[in-house]
Amino acid sequence: MSAFAHAELYFVDLTPPVVRTDAIQSFVSQETPILRLTDADGATGTGNTYTIGAGGSSIVALLNDHLLPRLQGRDLEDIEAIGHHLTRAVNALTVGPVVALAMAAIDTALWDLRCRRTGMPLHKAVGGARNAVPVYTTEGGWLHLEPQALVDDALASKAAGFQGAKVKLGKPSIRADVDRLAAVREAVGPAWHLMVDANQAFRVDEVIRRAAAYEQVGLTWFEEPLPADPPRGVTA
Ligand SMILES: [Mg+2]
Repeated sequence: MSAFAHAELYFVDLTPPVVRTDAIQSFVSQETPILRLTDADGATGTGNTYTIGAGGSSIVALLNDHLLPRLQGRDLEDIEAIGHHLTRAVNALTVGPVVALAMAAIDTALWDLRCRRTGMPLHKAVGGARNAVPVYTTEGGWLHLEPQALVDDALASKAAGFQGAKVKLGKPSIRADVDRLAAVREAVGPAWHLMVDANQAFRVDEVIRRAAAYEQVGLTWFEEPLPADPPRGVTA
């Protein structure tokens, strides 16, 4: 039993070390709600969520006004039951990003609490299928960066042990996108993983045309080519 005692919610505005620019937005502020849950034994778990610069106060209000009060009387070991209970409590707002982001802060805090109470690393607590995963970086791949800056970052990331890098695309000119990717590919060699992210900027016809051009560079994946909400006339 890990009886809920109290919650503390902080709202921190983290400034990214570099300007983060992609095809649809510039990301100069990372609003970061940080949640700490404490149980009746004094054990704590910390979770967080974040926004791309807007809407953080809505997440904080949802947590304070509607979600965190419903932890009263709960056993914090019941992570899945709590998830269902809280999601149902704000049913009219789901499925929606504000709810999902608020729930993420609670979910990560609950898992952190469980792992700290048991002294078990998270990968063991969720089943221990693997004890290592490959990692990539995306912090040096922003859309406003010049090709040489992309190359320099990719080479530094490769030297640091990353398995690959993800580069933003969505320049008005397809040629400009391809030239940026080709510069990185030439520098890192054929085997290193190179991924791209359009951040939902394109329509179906445009993305088909662009994907054919990007393909020559040798990509591991093409992330978010289309808007999350399906364009009219497109069915699954
Ligand atoms: Mg993405």
